[in-house]
Amino acid sequence: MKGDFDVVVVGARCAGSPLAALLARAGLKVCVVDRARFPSEVPSTHMLHPAGVAILERLGVLDKMLATGAPPLERGSFQFDDIRIEGGPEVLGGFGAPWLCVRRVTLDSLLVGMAEESGAQVLTQTKVVGLIADSGVVRGVRTEAGSLKAALVVGADGPRSAVARFTGAREYHVTHPGRFASWAYFEGVAEPHARARLGKVGDTGFLAMPTDDGLFMAGVGLSMSMLPAYMADTDRGLTEGLRQIDELSGVLGSARRVGPIRVMSRWRGYFREAAGPGWALVGDAGHFKDFTPAQGMSDALRQAERLASSIEAGLGRGHLADRLDAWWKWRDDDAWEMYWFANQIGASGPNPRMANEMIRGLSQEPGGAEKFLRVLNHDVAPSTVFSNRRGLRTLIQAGRAHPRQLPRLVSETGSLMREEARQRRLRRRPIFETSPADPSDQAATDGTGRSMHGTPPGDRRAELG
Ligand SMILES: Cc1cc2nc3c(=O)[nH]c(=O)nc-3n(C[C@H](O)[C@H](O)[C@H](O)COP(=O)(O)OP(=O)(O)OC[C@H]3O[C@@H](n4cnc5c(N)ncnc54)[C@H](O)[C@@H]3O)c2cc1C
Repeated sequence: MKGDFDVVVVGARCAGSPLAALLARAGLKVCVVDRARFPSEVPSTHMLHPAGVAILERLGVLDKMLATGAPPLERGSFQFDDIRIEGGPEVLGGFGAPWLCVRRVTLDSLLVGMAEESGAQVLTQTKVVGLIADSGVVRGVRTEAGSLKAALVVGADGPRSAVARFTGAREYHVTHPGRFASWAYFEGVAEPHARARLGKVGDTGFLAMPTDDGLFMAGVGLSMSMLPAYMADTDRGLTEGLRQIDELSGVLGSARRVGPIRVMSRWRGYFREAAGPGWALVGDAGHFKDFTPAQGMSDALRQAERLASSIEAGLGRGHLADRLDAWWKWRDDDAWEMYWFANQIGASGPNPRMANEMIRGLSQEPGGAEKFLRVLNHDVAPSTVFSNRRGLRTLIQAGRAHPRQLPRLVSETGSLMREEARQRRLRRRPIFETSPADPSDQAATDGTGRSMHGTPPGDRRAELG
């Protein structure tokens, strides 16, 4: 197997196939390679917020997603202990797209088909085992079946990205997991008003909604300390977890579980250096955040759209390196606030009282539901809604209503503000948690032995110093 391409994309799921499709439609010669056979799963639940659904529509693949039987979910229901926020896409500024939940076994196959129909060459069951490099510049990939040369290699190959490893892309702002996720599919759920549900009651995070093929997906996110007990009896663990959510007990009443219980506990949050000479990273390969607010697939789709136009312009009109650097900076800016918000709402243990009081205040004010949904939909930054001003107002109101809780509320507010100050410091000076990939990886990928590191985008050079 041989070939010369403008772009080789490694990984063909939420990030890789849309990117390959868009580049192929722009007239570039593209190959997308994945070691997986499709249809197949990845460890992930599948709630797509309206912004992600809108991208599927722009890609022209939404009708096929809906034809799988996954209902367009016109209502979203978000619960944090006794607080509930409800809304439909209409509250997202007339955005119009509903929530959607298509199993990855189905969704990813449709995306792979879309890439092929768009003119990309698709190679599945083909593992990338190294990179071709010349004078420190990536020029293609080596697969188990042969080499593919390209002007640019994009790693869309997920959290354990081989492209990241081979290029030595470093991680920064690493966060450690507070929760593990466990989910399963059920049949026999008859809910007259289907909706997307996400929330946390006590220490039990949950996600539940109908998916394709007449199935219903329901899962929990539990504190990491509960993992050993959960793994001892996952059936009991999932049943008891879901039982914590009153509303779900009713919905799942006489439903039957279909297939195994999935558990995902090995993850961490990170940003990775996202571009260098002849390479770039997109989707989970370059960034992963706590799964609690269900952002990853929409992020991957949004990044793919944006990266496609940067590559198209860079390969067409030149200055590819500058455009990739600009893309990297955009990726970090785009992901920054939601990264910490996700980390906060996914932290182990029950929600801090102050956080709940802020959500309560928001839920009670006119337009509050819309603001909350717009945060989850990545339309507005969390800090514009959960501002310091709101925090102070909440502290005064909650302190008046519950004077005996005041010391606790003050202490929680202090923690929230200290954490925010820490994040501001990190933004100025990222902490790299891992050194470049070990020498054996480099040797396997770059015959010249030269570094294939990216140069940090110009205006961030001092930060990355
Ligand atoms: C527990 C959990 C729950 C989640 N729930 C949600 C949710 O509800 N909603 C949401 O939006 N997001 C969710 N996410 C996040 C979401 O799963 C990811 O953000 C998304 O899958 C990213 O897609 P991707 O294309 O970047 O990577 P992936 O989906 O990981 O795809 C990477 C592909 O690269 C291929 N690959 C890897 N190495 C090689 C190689 N050497 N050669 C060839 N191919 C290779 C793999 O086979 C794979 O197909 C969740 C994540 C987790 C862990």
